[in-house]
Amino acid sequence: MRFHVLTLFPEMVLQGLHTSILGRACEQGLIEIEAVNIRDYTKNKHKKVDDYPYGGGAGMLMQAQPVYDAYKAVEERIAGPDNEKAQEGQEDELANANKSGKPRVIYLTPQGAVFNQNMAKELAKEEDLIFLCGHYEGIDERVLEEIVTDYVSIGDYVLTGGELPAMVMIDAISRLVPEVLNNDVSAEFESFHEDLLEYPQYSRPEEWQGKKVPQVLLSGHHANIENWRREQSIKRTKERRPDLYEKWKAKNE
Ligand code: SAM
Repeated sequence: MRFHVLTLFPEMVLQGLHTSILGRACEQGLIEIEAVNIRDYTKNKHKKVDDYPYGGGAGMLMQAQPVYDAYKAVEERIAGPDNEKAQEGQEDELANANKSGKPRVIYLTPQGAVFNQNMAKELAKEEDLIFLCGHYEGIDERVLEEIVTDYVSIGDYVLTGGELPAMVMIDAISRLVPEVLNNDVSAEFESFHEDLLEYPQYSRPEEWQGKKVPQVLLSGHHANIENWRREQSIKRTKERRPDLYEKWKAKNE
């Protein structure tokens, strides 16, 4: 799976994502992460990428041209041979190829649908994903209308840029790509699976600061352990996320 991040701060994205599990997944070729510097595509002789918003108001806005040209460069690379055909004059064929094979372009914005595990699962099926990171007061609406397929937020608060949200999404999606986690089962049975939170977990020693590991986990009785874990999941979800619990209850009644 390939992630393409359009950003003004490529080093932030690359440094943040090339560590630990994702760093290993990149080395093994399970995922690829490229960060494209939008500033490299500006036609402004001073390398400017922002300007004042029409109508006044605070702050600066990222301009349409550099964002669009950075996007087109990535899109053409992804399209590969179809694109070469077009350059040979077969425009109709390209139009059809692009319609079906066009990559999803996710604009990170507090105005989008709030990201969740189901979205991560759905996006993990794509071969290529393009993430567009805004900065300053955001991006000229016209280029968003032209290229964006999905508007996604990571929560109801405002950050300075789309880089951290893109990194959050890439991390959550990558964990669902086969073989990225050593044990694929660990992604299958964790929080948000079936709208439940994960049960509490314990490791050695059996007793720590007077607190003992629940006896059932030491029993070796698999069915009892499964039952205990399910009960704990339900209890924890009810206490910590009543909204999720209601969803789970509605499906399981
Ligand atoms: N003026 C914009 C508004 O009120 O909707 C906010 C712009 S914000 C300061 C700058 C950039 O940060 C946005 O273009 C977006 O890419 C990113 N951003 C900020 N908060 C975000 C969030 N909760 N989720 C995803 N992206 C966010």
